[in-house]
Amino acid sequence: MPKCPHCNAEVNHLDIHEASHLVHLSLDEHGNAMEAREELATEQLVGDYFCPHCGKTIATSEADALSFLRGEEPELCTWTVYLMVPYMTWEDIKARTEGEALDRCHYPWEFDCNEPHYWLAVEEEEDR
Ligand SMILES: [Zn+2]
Repeated sequence: MPKCPHCNAEVNHLDIHEASHLVHLSLDEHGNAMEAREELATEQLVGDYFCPHCGKTIATSEADALSFLRGEEPELCTWTVYLMVPYMTWEDIKARTEGEALDRCHYPWEFDCNEPHYWLAVEEEEDR
């Protein structure tokens, strides 16, 4: 029997709140989806599939809920993750003041000026 990833209890069905019903989703002896409905006194938010023991979300779609009940591992996908930091450097800008140095540099055309960013000019030490 699958175990809840949150409380580690063995789970034979998942609960779904469906407006004024609590739906118990489980598998019959042939592995097909089986739903039992229970009328609730108060309206609940429609949404995720919950562990009947701890009430935490186990799945967010019926397909995921059924594969959880069948003990299937979630399919692994391949991802590329980027940390996007706008970054641009201009070197050898000749200017008298920081403001003048900044004035000589312009946003690259592809840069979205709504992105968080700031300008900084650092004066070079001259090698002697
Ligand atoms: Zn649980």
